[in-house]
Amino acid sequence: MSIPRVPRHADFRKLAASGAHIGGVIALADLERIGAELLAHDGLVTVALGFGIDDEGHRVIDGHVEAELVLQCQRCLGPMRLGVAADVHLAMVWREEEIPALPQRLEGVVIGDEPGDLFALVEDELLLALPFAPSHAQGECAALEVPGDAAAAPDATQAEDEARENPFAVLAKYREPPH
Ligand SMILES: [Zn+2]
Repeated sequence: MSIPRVPRHADFRKLAASGAHIGGVIALADLERIGAELLAHDGLVTVALGFGIDDEGHRVIDGHVEAELVLQCQRCLGPMRLGVAADVHLAMVWREEEIPALPQRLEGVVIGDEPGDLFALVEDELLLALPFAPSHAQGECAALEVPGDAAAAPDATQAEDEARENPFAVLAKYREPPH
């Protein structure tokens, strides 16, 4: 049996009302924002999300997303494989202003009148789970083991600057960091 593909769009309110479960995979190639951070775009994100209404009446999305990503090591600028996973605890709100009133355990996700975008939701979770400046474990940077490779230094500085202007920082302000 092949693993089902997660649909891009879904009616989140209906899914919550019916207590639906969505499990399957999304191609990394379909996630453009995280694609900009990756050195390889093949691979799949594994998604398991349960929709429902909690005891306090919040329409919630609980679950887990994970993927093996090929990121750029910020020390040697070489490729590094990293398993990234995030637990999802979201509550649907209709306006941004409702988010501060949510209990601590829930992150708010604003749902408009349009069908919800599951790809964007999963991508946000993965982006928040990315390390700020990924790097190989000590001593595993291949490029730095090449003697006399001084050319790498200016690039490394530039990479640090880019990491500082990381767009995820903006997202992180609105949402709890992953645990
Ligand atoms: Zn490295």
